[in-house]
Amino acid sequence: RSTNSHASSRCWVATWFTQFTLKMSVVGFDVGFQSCYVAVARAGGIETIANEYSDRCTPAFVSFGPRNRAIGAAAKSQVVTNCKNTVQGFKRFHGRAFSDPYVQSAKSSLVYDLAQMPTGTTGIKVMYMEEEKVFSIEQVTAMLLTKLKETAEAALKKPVADCVISVPSFFTDAERRSVMDAAQIAGLNCLRLMNETTAVTLAYGIYKQDLPAAEEKPRTVVFVDVGHAGYQVSACAFNKGKLKILASAFDSELGGKDFDEMLVQHFCDDFAKKYKLDVRSKPRALVRLYQECEKLKKLMSANSSDLPLNIECFMNDIDVSSKLNRGQFEEMCAGLLAKVEGPLRSVMEQAKLKKEDIYAVEIIGGASRIPAIKERISKFFGKELSMTLNADEAVARGCALQCAILSPAFKVREFSITDVVPYPISLKWNSAAEEGLSDCEVFPKNHQAPFSKVLTFYRKEPFSLEAYYNNPKELPYPDPTIGQFMIQKVVPQASGESSKVKVKVRVNIHGVFSVSSASLVEVLKSAEGEEPMETDTATKDEEVTPSHYMEINYGFIHLSLMSTSAEDNKQEKKTDQPPQAKKPKVKTKTVDLPIENSLHWQLANDMLNLFVENEGKMIMQDKLEKERNDAKNGVEEYVYEMRDKLHGALEKFVSEDRDAFSLKLEDTENWLYEEGEDQQKQVYIDKLAELKKLGQPIQERAIEAEERPKAFEDLGKQIQQYMKIIEAYKAKDELYDHLEELEVMKVEKQVNDTMAWMNSKMNLQSKQSLTVEPVVKACEIQAKTKELYSACNPTVSKPKPKVEPPQEEKAPEQNGPVNGQEGSEAQPNSPEKDQPAPESAEAKLPEMDID
Ligand code: ATP
Ligand code: MG
Repeated sequence: RSTNSHASSRCWVATWFTQFTLKMSVVGFDVGFQSCYVAVARAGGIETIANEYSDRCTPAFVSFGPRNRAIGAAAKSQVVTNCKNTVQGFKRFHGRAFSDPYVQSAKSSLVYDLAQMPTGTTGIKVMYMEEEKVFSIEQVTAMLLTKLKETAEAALKKPVADCVISVPSFFTDAERRSVMDAAQIAGLNCLRLMNETTAVTLAYGIYKQDLPAAEEKPRTVVFVDVGHAGYQVSACAFNKGKLKILASAFDSELGGKDFDEMLVQHFCDDFAKKYKLDVRSKPRALVRLYQECEKLKKLMSANSSDLPLNIECFMNDIDVSSKLNRGQFEEMCAGLLAKVEGPLRSVMEQAKLKKEDIYAVEIIGGASRIPAIKERISKFFGKELSMTLNADEAVARGCALQCAILSPAFKVREFSITDVVPYPISLKWNSAAEEGLSDCEVFPKNHQAPFSKVLTFYRKEPFSLEAYYNNPKELPYPDPTIGQFMIQKVVPQASGESSKVKVKVRVNIHGVFSVSSASLVEVLKSAEGEEPMETDTATKDEEVTPSHYMEINYGFIHLSLMSTSAEDNKQEKKTDQPPQAKKPKVKTKTVDLPIENSLHWQLANDMLNLFVENEGKMIMQDKLEKERNDAKNGVEEYVYEMRDKLHGALEKFVSEDRDAFSLKLEDTENWLYEEGEDQQKQVYIDKLAELKKLGQPIQERAIEAEERPKAFEDLGKQIQQYMKIIEAYKAKDELYDHLEELEVMKVEKQVNDTMAWMNSKMNLQSKQSLTVEPVVKACEIQAKTKELYSACNPTVSKPKPKVEPPQEEKAPEQNGPVNGQEGSEAQPNSPEKDQPAPESAEAKLPEMDID
């Protein structure tokens, strides 16, 4: 399933976009509760990227050590050995107070410690760099994002900043803002926080080619994501390149982890009975039990027979064993499984859909593989489930696609997706007229998003608006507050009357509510007639400009559209008059007003900057530690390599120094386990240099011994060739009768000298032991060969003069200037500069047989 859809969607997507510039990266990150995926858009397709372990899944784990951090797979491998300092399952702590009941109840089942940040939010407490440290959740997620960013950078071979990151559709503003802060700490520019099911919808929309044409009835698909920490359902209408989310529902207590929890509890009880063990009292044992239960859960998805659970040396040196089958598992999870239907029904009701309206039900997420979950979903719809997408990678792929749509570097075929507001949002404010609080629902549940609205107030002085979720019952979060927005610098009109203040509220592309701008309409020339009364009714002035829509619809022209929408606003303001003001002669001027935000659990700017700085320092520290480790490994590797070779390939090149060197290697090995265990990088570098001082000469002797025969052979061959030419000359061979005698004698002398040199060196070397420095180095012999060549070759290769007169000579001379220049540069007298390779020397010589 996964390989097929992976391959086919990749080539199909290829027809969907053109990349303008290769400089900018386009990346999607699925930051799951348990596992993360990275997808990139490149070469016209979306690809899921593998990490340094060649795994496309990166565990959402961060581990802290005395000298560095480990992130991802490296951190997960420490979950048992360094359990107190290895954090996982922190995604749900985003944007939450330490006192939050969710945090407090999760705390008791965690093996690592949580702590309160000075601001009141949740942090984790670990030992890092041999000190107790508290990191905010934003920092921890930033660490994970740093890893994912590096993974993308390694694959794309360029820096990564622009990205789209997924969040559960049920995340509230505070949780979303917290994830945005994490992205910023990791140096990422998050173009959109995308709801997980919405990302899947986009991936599906691109993958499916049978979308109905515009004039046909839209096709409705239900998406179900069963992850580790949540169950999300959404319904989407597909209509030729237009994707419209209709409604969504979720259950944050139904996911893989809740099934693990049931199993862990079951075996804790079992082992208490059978072995009298209190598993929860030992974090290490508990962590191992979680791991084994998850494995068992996955096995039960594929197998309905009895399956064993064995853990050796589990606690107090006791081996434990037990077994379970799918039937028993489903029985013990009946309560959980009963929750499957609720969100499905809720989505159908909200979107006013009947089961016949559903074209397909697409399921994704790791825990969607649990047969009992699939059965229940399928039974609810009376339909076979569709599994078109890669269940694990669809979210990341959808995010990468969204990033391509938003990036100016890509042009994506017309494709739009609109999301919904998950919880109804209201504003409340103090009203003088009504002597008390007024409030108004600005975004009802399932209102299209992103979206902006303009509200009009009549005020004489600054005022404050409070945004909140008006249905706390359905909120999986204890505090309905979104934030306070102070509209500042509001003054009465010159006439003393209230001013008209326009306030633009918005649910932005990240699904976050904000008061994005406010302006005061100043009446310049007062008109006679009735003045507007101070009314506090918020006139909902729905912006029907397509700006909100096109911002995502045509993401690649984002900027230009932003300016268009600003102009739209101006126009809208000019024409917009309170209903009471009937006089047409009123001239107005619009003044922008500053807004002071006080957002629920928003990280202060200076704090954020400090976190950015600290993340940079930790990245640097990890890098230094890696270099230190590499240096240490360098010493270790050298010790083992040389120890082996001293008794192998290098054996005949060592004599009396062997014992000294062996001893030194042994000492170093011991040192590595003792005081050398933990030293500065330079100490290892020095240690290696010290060893090499002894080892290098031995290795060099071996190399010399290997290269020397070949070097002598080459020199010998050349001597022989010149000797044959000299002989031929002496025998009056007509090939050489044009050569000057004096010159040939010079060549002969050179050849004889070289031969004498070679013979003497060979002679001496043959008497020399291999365990000492050789008499002559291979490079000296090679230099001798070159020297002989440059001394003799010009003479012996002189061309025979042609009998023909000038005409012929002229021809080559016409090309002469260039050749001539080249020649004079290429043939300097100094022998060092002249570097013919031995082969070329041979090539220039007359052909002859050589024994
Ligand atoms: P979330 O989406 O909730 O943030 P996530 O994205 O990390 O979490 P997934 O990777 O979609 O979650 O799913 C992981 C869950 O799926 C784990 O609980 C895992 O044990 C479970 N899982 C994976 N494969 C199987 C299987 N074959 N049978 C049962 N459960 C499985
Ligand atoms: Mg997920």
